[in-house]
Amino acid sequence: MAVVVQKYGGTSVGTIEKIKAVAKKVIERKEQGNEMIVVVSAMGKTTDSLITMAKEISPNPDKRELDMLVSTGEQISIALLSMAFHEYGYNSISLTGFQAGIKTDGLHTKNRITDIDIKNVKKNLNAGRIVVVAGFQGINENGDITTLGRGGSDTTAVALAAKLKCACEIYTDVEGVYCVDPRVYPKAKKLHSISYEEMMEMASLGAGVMETRAVELGFKYNIPIYVAMTHGNKKGTVIKEYDDTMEGKVITGLTLNDDVLMITVNNVEYKSKNIARIFDKVAKHNINIDMISQTAPFEGYVNVSFTCSTDDNYSIDAAANELQTEIPGIEVSKESDITKLSVVGIGMMKQSGVAAKVFNIFSDNNIEFKQVTTSEISISYTINTSDKQKAVNALAEALDLRA
Ligand code: ADP
Ligand code: ASP
Ligand code: MG
Repeated sequence: MAVVVQKYGGTSVGTIEKIKAVAKKVIERKEQGNEMIVVVSAMGKTTDSLITMAKEISPNPDKRELDMLVSTGEQISIALLSMAFHEYGYNSISLTGFQAGIKTDGLHTKNRITDIDIKNVKKNLNAGRIVVVAGFQGINENGDITTLGRGGSDTTAVALAAKLKCACEIYTDVEGVYCVDPRVYPKAKKLHSISYEEMMEMASLGAGVMETRAVELGFKYNIPIYVAMTHGNKKGTVIKEYDDTMEGKVITGLTLNDDVLMITVNNVEYKSKNIARIFDKVAKHNINIDMISQTAPFEGYVNVSFTCSTDDNYSIDAAANELQTEIPGIEVSKESDITKLSVVGIGMMKQSGVAAKVFNIFSDNNIEFKQVTTSEISISYTINTSDKQKAVNALAEALDLRA
């Protein structure tokens, strides 16, 4: 019998009725002769609500305790789904990350899976059970519960599929991977397939439909990932190895990320020592920097800007306070209505002119950008969030991302 790992996201298990519908969908596959492992996320917006509660206690809650708290969301959904299987006459067991043997290391709230001790999962499959595994969580070497970062249930699913060398299916609330988030640009094209590299790039630049590390694992272990809609039978998207049939276009997708905080340090005396001090301080506060820009020196002074996640808001304030006392005369300001817009495509490795095309479209539409960065297969721009929709509409049209 073939093993299949299916993962259902938060919206797909958001109500009791939806959990029952998921159970029926899984049972259909089981009846076709498959052994089923089902990974689930927390119901609906449970994780967000748990984080909100924690922030009401403390603006910067202890990360170990945060993991302890948010991991409870998945524990509710696995138990309910397993009960639904029992109710429909099927043998099933729910397992937490620890019980499923998911070992992790790293920092609390941002852990990585290091290995899976698959014995317990296999034992339960062999006993004919549908195994329901809590997404997003594992256990570290101290025996503490850990979580894998937002969206981490995808990673749990792909890691299990990689360990068992079996099929991996991710079910969600959209029909598959689109060139542009269909909630922002409803006319976007749905992709039949996309390469691991492009999906990794799109995910890391904000296409929340897949978690980046999940795609990385699929790439590493060559596990094709099928992304489709939970409810309904529409054909989805396969994330797989790059092949020549995918090479049709230079740009495969456009991604957006509103989780951007832009920090500007003004009046910095133009000495490399000062720039180093700023970024040392930021590093000491464990802030992950994304884009950096600096103005040309004017009368011996420069302004330096960088971006990071809004999650780092608290740490930025702490770093800014220290910097302002240590480097007299500087001024630190924060902007949060910033969007990072990126165009992604493997075709860019062979074709130039994409940046120029985007700059022209921005210019035709009076859109000012703040920073630009490039990788081999993407170009990213920060713009004011108020210009986001205008930019998406114009770029999607011009870059042939429309259905
Ligand atoms: P789940 O809870 O099932 O994991 P997510 O909210 O994490 O669901 O991911 C699905 C969402 O990803 C969609 O509702 C959609 O708005 C968003 N999304 C962003 N970019 C894309 C894209 N390029 N293609 C499809 N969906 C996208
Ligand atoms: N429940 C977790 C989150 O909301 C994990 C996931 O949904 O994949 O981030
Ligand atoms: Mg998700």
